[in-house]
Amino acid sequence: MTGYYSSPFSRRHSVGVDVGGVLVGGGAPVVVQSMTNTDTADIDQTVAQVAALARAGSEIVRITVDRDESAAAVPRIRERLDRLGIDVPLVGDFHYIGHQLLADHPGCAEALAKYRINPGNVGFKEKKDRQFGEIVEMAIRYGKPVRIGVNWGSLDQALLTRLMDENQERGSPLTAVQVMHEAIVQSALLSAEMAEQIGLPRDRIILSAKVSGVQDLVAVYTELARRSDHSLHLGLTEAGMGSKGIVASSAAIGILLQQGIGDTIRISLTPEPGGDRTREVQVAQELLQTMGFRQFVPIVAACPGCGRTTSTVFQELAQNIQEDIRRNMPVWREKYPGVEELKVAVMGCIVNGPGESKHADIGISLPGTGETPTAPVFIDGRKAATLRGPAIADEFQKMVADYIERRFGGGGRAAAE
Ligand code: SF4
Repeated sequence: MTGYYSSPFSRRHSVGVDVGGVLVGGGAPVVVQSMTNTDTADIDQTVAQVAALARAGSEIVRITVDRDESAAAVPRIRERLDRLGIDVPLVGDFHYIGHQLLADHPGCAEALAKYRINPGNVGFKEKKDRQFGEIVEMAIRYGKPVRIGVNWGSLDQALLTRLMDENQERGSPLTAVQVMHEAIVQSALLSAEMAEQIGLPRDRIILSAKVSGVQDLVAVYTELARRSDHSLHLGLTEAGMGSKGIVASSAAIGILLQQGIGDTIRISLTPEPGGDRTREVQVAQELLQTMGFRQFVPIVAACPGCGRTTSTVFQELAQNIQEDIRRNMPVWREKYPGVEELKVAVMGCIVNGPGESKHADIGISLPGTGETPTAPVFIDGRKAATLRGPAIADEFQKMVADYIERRFGGGGRAAAE
């Protein structure tokens, strides 16, 4: 890349966990994961959605396993995905009867790459520890990792009550919110300790502690990261719809990632009716990429536009290039290794246009209102052409395609070697 960009801080050390061939933590790149919203018992719909999520870039996909029909469907979903050449690991999300479903459906226990347990709703009273233990024993028997996923909406009430009572005895009691944070952290850590005592090694335990407030999430994970070296799954629960969900998740997860905390992320967006479930994968990738952790697709930098340009040419061009890239990426990933590092700039006028374009690998500065109707194109920091006339957009798109072929295609690599 031609420009100057800062790198993120170093990551927190965590014990790596192998989830069906995908390493989470232990210094591996932050993993993107997602969850289906189909009825798992509906094999066709679930296979289609898992395939779409995997093709969009989800490296792990979680599915709900809530009843016998869902558990029975899991091995058939796995087989169908394998036949499609989609090897994305599947995680089973269990609540209340997970121990029973895993015992009754060995094919399900085998086909899943990880079991997710919520210690707050694994069972009640004396059944709780026994049923939690039974799932952990299944994980040991089948050689699978687990995620111990605490959620404040289903927090272990007995633990919270005990901590509230203890807090009353303190000379300077914590606030109710602080006690709740401590209960969430303890629930995760005590459950992990119990799983390890049963015999599940630490390199098969991932922790998460989801809440729905940005500041709460930052506080809880900062403490969890300070008190353990477990691999951590980050996610803001009930983040919401549209821009609210994206902003809240990005703010919370971004702050933690910046501190080096987090080994895998999921952006929990509520899709609009009929909306595309893969949006959560795209947002997760964009968050990691804009923060400098990973590269997934070429970046298109575009100015926001202002009163200096009344034309919509640059907006359309930026959008066309962005869509072109997303559409072509599945093929380009194979054909042009390294293409995800490409940076394209599409700028609206001469004020910042040439400067920003020079920082990109290839950039164009379109004419603003009243400017000479010419568009300089910069390649690798140097002016390479000046486009004129009505076909500027088409010509620039062709120049981008030629640049990709030259730099990332077989010929370009051979010439460079
Ligand atoms: S590059 Fe020009 S058109 Fe774009 S925001 Fe800046 S001043 Fe406005």
